[in-house]
Amino acid sequence: MSEETKLAYIQERLREAKRHQRYGTFLTILGLIFIILYLFLLFRRWYLGNLNILVLLLGLGVFAWGLFENVRNDLKHRVLLDQLGKKTFATTCPKCGKDIPNVNFAFCPFCGVELERK
Ligand SMILES: [Zn+2]
Repeated sequence: MSEETKLAYIQERLREAKRHQRYGTFLTILGLIFIILYLFLLFRRWYLGNLNILVLLLGLGVFAWGLFENVRNDLKHRVLLDQLGKKTFATTCPKCGKDIPNVNFAFCPFCGVELERK
């Protein structure tokens, strides 16, 4: 694999990891909503038979899944950034302000904002 292809590949993987991480965050929030709904039902003493426990299990399940996706992709993201091997940080992202590795990124590897190519 040429250096160029490898770079493009890593960039794509980075973008994918970020996307999955956002998906994980979404699931975490969704899970929390279900957990809050469960607490709300408990508080209002609305016992809907097995539905209460179903809401709780769904909430905990989705929450745990989201958290897992989040952590897993965060680690993947770190590993990929390491693989870039370039420790020179030339540019700073205009959106999130993080340092971007000096390897001609088309987008910010942290927040995904498109970058102007120089
Ligand atoms: Zn950024």
